[in-house]
Amino acid sequence: MAKIGINIATGSLQQAEIIVGIDLGTTNSLVAIIHPETKLPTALKEFDGSSIVPSIVHFDAFGNAEVGANAKPYLESDPANTIFSAKRLMGKSYKDIRAHQDFFAYKIIDDNRDSLVKVQVGSTFYSPIDLSSYILVELKKRAEHILKTPVTKAVITVPAYFNDTQRQATRDAGKLAGLDVLRIINEPTAASLAYGLGMDPTEEKTIAVYDLGGGTFDISILKIANGIFEVLSTNGDTYLGGDDLDRAIIEYWMKQMGVENLEDHKNLKQELRLCAEQAKIALSNADFFETTFAGEKISITKEVFEKLIEPIVAKTIDCCKLAMKDAALDIKDITTVLMVGGSTRVPLVKKTVSTFFNQAVNDSVNPDEVVALGAAVQADILSGNNQNMLLLDITPLSLGIETMGGLMDVLLPRNSKIPTKTSRQYTTQKDAQSGINISVYQGERDLVKDNRQLGAFTLTGIPSMPAGLPKVEVSFLINADGILQVSAKELRSGVSQSIDIKPQYGLTDEEVEQRLLESLTHAKEDIATRALVEASTEAEQMLSVTEKFMMKNAALLSKEEMTATANAMQALQLAITMADKNLIQEKTEALNDLTRPFAERVMDQAISGALKGRGIDDKNL
Ligand code: ADP
Ligand code: MG
Repeated sequence: MAKIGINIATGSLQQAEIIVGIDLGTTNSLVAIIHPETKLPTALKEFDGSSIVPSIVHFDAFGNAEVGANAKPYLESDPANTIFSAKRLMGKSYKDIRAHQDFFAYKIIDDNRDSLVKVQVGSTFYSPIDLSSYILVELKKRAEHILKTPVTKAVITVPAYFNDTQRQATRDAGKLAGLDVLRIINEPTAASLAYGLGMDPTEEKTIAVYDLGGGTFDISILKIANGIFEVLSTNGDTYLGGDDLDRAIIEYWMKQMGVENLEDHKNLKQELRLCAEQAKIALSNADFFETTFAGEKISITKEVFEKLIEPIVAKTIDCCKLAMKDAALDIKDITTVLMVGGSTRVPLVKKTVSTFFNQAVNDSVNPDEVVALGAAVQADILSGNNQNMLLLDITPLSLGIETMGGLMDVLLPRNSKIPTKTSRQYTTQKDAQSGINISVYQGERDLVKDNRQLGAFTLTGIPSMPAGLPKVEVSFLINADGILQVSAKELRSGVSQSIDIKPQYGLTDEEVEQRLLESLTHAKEDIATRALVEASTEAEQMLSVTEKFMMKNAALLSKEEMTATANAMQALQLAITMADKNLIQEKTEALNDLTRPFAERVMDQAISGALKGRGIDDKNL
């Protein structure tokens, strides 16, 4: 709730509490607001003119933390106690980041591979959430210092690919820092807001947002119509960014110096890393760079640099192609291309992206600040100043629940727009079944065992009813932050249960891609399995119905009919055991044909009974 104070001296109402926009970046973070006078989004700058806070935390021997520019020199002098790129660890398990462990110069705990990672500094363990909160505290302090007012509310941005765990982790980091996180929004969405796109309700645009930062790459295709933002598709790579450009230069120099590896010299390794970044930044505006490293002169030309990074830039274009495919668009459909992230200052990046989209790119808003500026615009919308704007995002993978036979029943197909709500009805399998398991999965495969379980719960307390009678409505609700809530309700009795999905650890981009790929390569096999499972499920239902029918209506059947039915049931049972889909279908059909006249006979009897009753006594009419 916003508090409004009264200034005792003047008797006037004080300004409502400010909501800041925060770009919590892998490499750099910053905070922005809508300027109270100019009404323009503005990054908050310290007196030195810098708006950027490097996302680096250094701990001294007593565990005191220093954050930002002051922590940066320790990357060289004290790498074991200096944490950078903590955002890469958000919501990840050791297993997720194992392949990239070399990248981190600090100690990542690797004893428990499935749980969330921790970083060890001295004898203290920090979660990525703790580490991010240090950065957020610094941003909060900075904002309070500049604005001279308490800051407790914020909008924080995350990469479009952040999954549920990562979004939750970001929210938690905000909470730890004493911030009420009103909204988590996707960075590319924020960027388009900063460009003022969508403010004119008559404008219709299809935008590509190309965001190459220090650690992540995101491409998003957005559509804006009637002042509504819709993300048509997203793609990207959480392990692709300016750091990779630095690494390309490092490797080049190491080869030149004849150094095999610097693993035993972490200090030198970090120093070389900083030299490489310096070179890269210089080459955005020059053709040649030279410096000294460990007493030796090292240099690189723009031409060599561009050759080195070409495969990295090409990788981002592959992602762009996939995003275009998912959005089902042609290049000519893209009306605007936005450049976001410090690495888009590299001329080759601009040139390649411009060539791919066959048009000039937009880079007029400072690419370091653009995301924070957009977060400030969103904060402004939330504080009620821009009410007719609505943001829609999408889900990267399909979401569904496990049904009979381990099948994945998709409730929300991949690339569904969020926020969204959907529901579907299910029922029980057995008579008097009092509970039903709801197992939530994410993925594209037909069998849940090939997808990833996000969570599970049991709806209990269903009153005793025959199988098939309870109506269990399962609802998926994804809020604007992309956080999934699953609930189940038995509609006849009203019993209900719900969970917020908080999976143990997240999927990496590679895994998302892997899963999409697998769903394609296994499509045939999946279809066959699904057909078999469906046939078996139907057959078992048929068997159970027939059995019940026989028990209830034995008097209506002749002995021959009883025997024939028992044989047909046995044949069907055998077909199920043999897992032969065609045979199962054939035998189900046969049993069905055999028993259909019985059912009709029972119906006839019931109807004639009812008519008879009506004839004598029409009280019921
Ligand atoms: P993130 O969003 O990952 O925090 P940023 O958008 O702040 O990252 O981008 C940081 C990256 O941009 C770093 O890799 C940095 O080296 C790079 N960068 C900054 N300025 C330039 C420049 N002029 N030329 C090339 N790269 C740059
Ligand atoms: Mg960024």
